[in-house]
Amino acid sequence: MINLELFASIVKEFIRALRKGNTYNIRKNSYLIFGILWGMPIPIVTIGIALYYGNMAFSPANIFSEIITDPIQVFFLMHPILFGIVFGAMGTVRDEKERQKQEVDQLKDNFLSMVSHELWSPLTTVQGYVTFIKEGKAGPISRKQREFLEITNEEIDDLSTLIGELVDISRIESGKFEVKLDCLDIENVESRTVDFFRQALEKKNISLKNEIPRHLPYVLADRKRIGQVFTNLLGNAVKFTPENGTISISARENGKIVEFSITDNGIGIPEDKIDKIFDKFYQVDSTNERQYNGCGLGLAITKNIIELHKGKIWVESKIGLGSKFSFALQKCSP
Ligand code: ADP
Repeated sequence: MINLELFASIVKEFIRALRKGNTYNIRKNSYLIFGILWGMPIPIVTIGIALYYGNMAFSPANIFSEIITDPIQVFFLMHPILFGIVFGAMGTVRDEKERQKQEVDQLKDNFLSMVSHELWSPLTTVQGYVTFIKEGKAGPISRKQREFLEITNEEIDDLSTLIGELVDISRIESGKFEVKLDCLDIENVESRTVDFFRQALEKKNISLKNEIPRHLPYVLADRKRIGQVFTNLLGNAVKFTPENGTISISARENGKIVEFSITDNGIGIPEDKIDKIFDKFYQVDSTNERQYNGCGLGLAITKNIIELHKGKIWVESKIGLGSKFSFALQKCSP
């Protein structure tokens, strides 16, 4: 079925381009020359055919007489110009799109530096002072005050995670997100991540099983970024697993790769939503009343990180039974 709206917008864009000087500027718009060259064979062939069937030689005089006796040839003769204009307009549209993209990239860059300087720096300062007061370094505090400061700290952590994710997604989109691959002992990264979640796990009384075999081969990975992958996946597992649940982290060698899995017996993901959870800003429950925090960027960033490692990430899940997120990384060749 023809998408009429799309068709109308293309026509509008084309007409707008016809009014722009760039469409007819042979020095600035290479598409114009391209169009003229494309149109060139048409009058040559049509006049050639007419002369051939009229048993006339391909001479300038015969060409001229053919053009003035058969007006359709004038139409064919105009084809290089027509093609030039059509292609020239396409060039203008393309140049404008390119310019708009550059402007958006510039805006994104500005946003990025604004976010990192104007939001992150004061947040770090606030976090520092809250910790300072909580530890009693600014004078004695009551149990109630400590409790409130702990809540404040948790909220600050959530906010800095969100800012970090926004910065990462902007970098990914502008192609500035890079990984530095080294031979890495993943056990090291994994145990740091587990330590980070120790308190959250205890709070929900979730038992964590480490099923990573000893002496696992090293993998080719960026320490910081793979740490981020573990943090995202384990963080989600903790978040979406109810109290007294279980989470396990496992790994297995499979030829030239090592597969890691984080399995939980939490709420699970509906079958028809599984394909969407790696999309940015997607959340299975995105209503205002949702009980889980976050903004739906973690898995999109995680997928990008794994893809930058030339790895693979996938998920198996059953609603109400739990989820298993797995990713594969290449072994480090000795
Ligand atoms: P966020 O956690 O910030 O919402 P993510 O990109 O990490 O964003 O995850 C996207 C969505 O995928 C989540 O909102 C949730 O609906 C679903 N999801 C991710 N991990 C799990 C999990 N372990 N169990 C159930 N649902 C999950």
